Amino acid sequence: MDLYEYQAKQLFGKHDLPITAGDVCETVEAAVAVSESIGAPVVVKAQVKTGGRGKAGGVKLAKDPAETREVAQAILGMDIKGHTVHKVLVAHAADIAEEYYVSILLDRANRAFLAMASVEGGVEIEEVAAHNPDALAKIRIDALEGLTPAKAREIAEAAKFDEAIQGQVANILTTLWEIMVREDATLVEVNPLVLTPTGEVIALDGKVTIDDNAAFRQLEHAEFVDQGIDPIEARAKSFDLNYVKLDGDVGIVGNGAGLVMSTLDVVAYAGEEFGGIKPANFLDIGGGASAEVMANGLDIVLNDPDVQAVFVNIFGGITSCDAVANGILQAIEQLGDQVTKPIVCRIDGNNAIEGRKILTDANHHLIELVDTMDAAARRVAELAASRKGAK
Ligand code: GDP
Ligand code: MN
Repeated sequence: MDLYEYQAKQLFGKHDLPITAGDVCETVEAAVAVSESIGAPVVVKAQVKTGGRGKAGGVKLAKDPAETREVAQAILGMDIKGHTVHKVLVAHAADIAEEYYVSILLDRANRAFLAMASVEGGVEIEEVAAHNPDALAKIRIDALEGLTPAKAREIAEAAKFDEAIQGQVANILTTLWEIMVREDATLVEVNPLVLTPTGEVIALDGKVTIDDNAAFRQLEHAEFVDQGIDPIEARAKSFDLNYVKLDGDVGIVGNGAGLVMSTLDVVAYAGEEFGGIKPANFLDIGGGASAEVMANGLDIVLNDPDVQAVFVNIFGGITSCDAVANGILQAIEQLGDQVTKPIVCRIDGNNAIEGRKILTDANHHLIELVDTMDAAARRVAELAASRKGAK
C-alpha cells in the first residue's frame, strides 16, 4: 500500500524525523483554519498518490489565510494524472536554501536493501540518475546488519553532503531505516529533503510504501487504507474476498484465479455478439466455496448497480459440486429480496451431476443452469444485454 504524503509524514513525526507542522484538510474552510492557526506563510499540497504534483500545479505557497483560500479552492477537485484531489495538506512553508534526495528501498533482485542519496534533490531522481549518475550515491544495506550509524555516515559522505550537515543527514538516514523496519515499509523516500537558511535539515515531502503482508502486525496502519474510493471494493475487502471492479455489466463469481481470469475472457468474447457486453468484476471466492463465502460473493456482485446478470462459474475440486450447489441455494435464501437479477450457473468437476440435479430440482426462477462455460458465457451476455436494453 502506498501512503499519501500526509500519512507518510505522520509516520515521520512518530519516529521524530524533522518535518514542518501542518494538517490534512478536505475543505477550503478547513484549509483556511489551519492556515490561521499556523499564522505564517503555508504551502498547500494536493494529496494524490502520484508524483510530480508540483509541476502539475498541485503544490502552491500562500502568504496568508486569504491566499490559502484561493489556492485551496484551485487545488481541491483538481485532476492530477487521472487522480482527483480530495484532500490537501496545509503546512508551514519552509524557507529553502538547498534541496536534496534520500531514500531506502527493498532491493528484491539483490536480496538486500538499497539506500540512495543525492545533493541534487527536488527534481525527479530518475533524471539525476540518467544525466548525472555520479551525483546519486547508491549503497547496499545488508538486511541482517541493517543501516548502522557508520553506514549512514558512509552514505552521507558518498553523496557529498557538506560536512557541516553530514551528521544531520546520517541521523535522518538511520531514522528512515527505523521506519522501514518498525513500520514494515518497502520504500521510504524524501524528495526534497531540504536545508533551511538557518541550517536545519527537514523532510518537505514523503513517500512510503507499506508491505501489506505485515498488516496482521501493523494494526495501526488500518487507518491508512482508503475507504469509500470504491465502496464495493471496500466491502469485498471486509469479507476477505479477492475482488476487482471492472467496467462491464456481467457479475462474475468463480473459484480459483485462473478460472475467473478465463471466465472474464469468454464473457468479453461472447459479449461482442451482444453489443459489447463485458465483465463487471473479477471475483475469486477461492477453493472452499462454502455457502457463507458464496453468499458474501453474490452479495457483493448483486449489489453492484452496474451488474445486469451474474455468471457463477464453479469447477468442483476438493469442494464437490453438490456442496457448491447447496451453497448457491443457501446464499440466495440468505440474500432474500436482494436477489433480483438472473444468475447463470455452470458447475463442473467433482460430483457435477449431483450438483446440477440439486439446482435443477430447486427450480428457482432466477437461476439458469448451462452445461458448458462457453454456452453459459453466451447466455449470461444475452441476458445482460436484454436487461440493459430494457432500462
Ligand atoms: P512533488 O512535486 O509531488 O514531488 O511535491 P513536493 O512536495 O516535492 O513539492 C514540489 C516542490 O515544491 C518542492 O521541490 C519544493 O521546491 C516546493 N515546496 C514544497 N514544500 C515547500 C515549502 O514548504 N516551502 C517552499 N518554499 N517550497 C516548497
Ligand atoms: Mn517530491
